[in-house]
Amino acid sequence: MLGLFTAMELVSDPSVSVEVIDSGHPGVGSSGRSVGMIETQYVDAGDVEVRAFGRKAYSALIDEHALPFVHGGYLRLGHSHDDIAQFERSIAAQAAAGITDAEILLPAEIARRWPQLVTADVSAGLFGAWDGYVDGYEVTQLLARLVRESGGHVRSNSQLVDATRSGSWRLETTNGTFEADVVVNAAGPWAGHVADLLGAPVTLIPQLHGAVAIELPDEKPFTPFVMDYVPGAGSEGVYFRSERKDQLIAGLHTEEVLHHGVAPDVQLGSMDGETVERIALALTERLHDVDDMRIGRSWTGIYPMSSDHRPVVGRHADDPTVVCALGAGGNGIQLSPAIGRMAADAVLERPRSFSDAVQWGQQRFAADPQV
Ligand SMILES: Cc1cc2nc3c(=O)[nH]c(=O)nc-3n(C[C@H](O)[C@H](O)[C@H](O)COP(=O)(O)OP(=O)(O)OC[C@H]3O[C@@H](n4cnc5c(N)ncnc54)[C@H](O)[C@@H]3O)c2cc1C
Repeated sequence: MLGLFTAMELVSDPSVSVEVIDSGHPGVGSSGRSVGMIETQYVDAGDVEVRAFGRKAYSALIDEHALPFVHGGYLRLGHSHDDIAQFERSIAAQAAAGITDAEILLPAEIARRWPQLVTADVSAGLFGAWDGYVDGYEVTQLLARLVRESGGHVRSNSQLVDATRSGSWRLETTNGTFEADVVVNAAGPWAGHVADLLGAPVTLIPQLHGAVAIELPDEKPFTPFVMDYVPGAGSEGVYFRSERKDQLIAGLHTEEVLHHGVAPDVQLGSMDGETVERIALALTERLHDVDDMRIGRSWTGIYPMSSDHRPVVGRHADDPTVVCALGAGGNGIQLSPAIGRMAADAVLERPRSFSDAVQWGQQRFAADPQV
């Protein structure tokens, strides 16, 4: 996804020839395994700024290319006075970024709108009515088509296996050799490996996450995407949303590195039983009337996390002909338009598109490569 949004930015410059090379095909990585949430309910100005940019980009895909998008709303739950203060900062940051439809809801209002939610321990909610979800795989297919229609190439089954540079890059793939002046590393969970091939190292700590379908015995009122987690909490929080009237999609989310990293080629499949049990328990605590729910299918995927949990975007300090577009963690679907813009700015040596509140440069690791 990050590579395709970068390519979309680059193909609009007629002086640039764009080749997207993928070892499988677009969408086979993390982007086809996400739950696809696009939202702006963050606190820090920089976090909101990049998501507001993403919202505009997705709005354009919806309006101009009929991208399916379910505007189900996003409700972040808070549990303390401190959380309410954070939500107030979010409303101000969103207003500054041009988003005026976010609101703080008190527990009584949350209970009035969605009586199925347990609110006894909730201090407030931060709600975005526009927010919603896409099918990540579908987005990659649309972007690949748009890149091709604009003159770029998207090469499937072309795994980068070797890279040498003398003047320009010579990239050996399993499906041919490519020459390039600049290489963008957007290999998601595999970005650490690709970085080594390019001699422009990055540290990723890929985190295994998953989602599970919860089958309800009968039709229930619609539930927005509920996130029972505030960034920086130092733990995981449960999230869930209606998929159908008799089905929820649920998982555990964190913006931090809480687990050992996994190999990017780790066998992906169903979630482990213990994690599913934790999710089920959290749901019974957060929702009324779900005692007779049934666990449905589940799947796992990878959050490509950097060591400080922020994306890594821009020219590499060791080799400026390598541009990073990686490390999006659990937010790559909503952040990919901003990451693509910032990576393209670096490739084209354009001025920054974002304020100084957004610090994603790879150079931040140059001082301490262990970070
Ligand atoms: C369960 C789950 C739920 C999630 N929910 C959300 C959500 O609601 N909202 C959100 O914003 N984010 C979410 N995410 C996170 C999001 O999916 C990721 O941040 C995002 O998909 C990362 O995109 P990417 O382009 O970096 O990686 P990928 O989509 O993995 O793309 C990397 C590509 O690189 C290719 N590649 C790898 N190695 C090579 C090589 N050597 N040569 C050529 N190509 C190579 C791969 O084939 C792949 O296509 C979720 C993730 C999971 C697992």
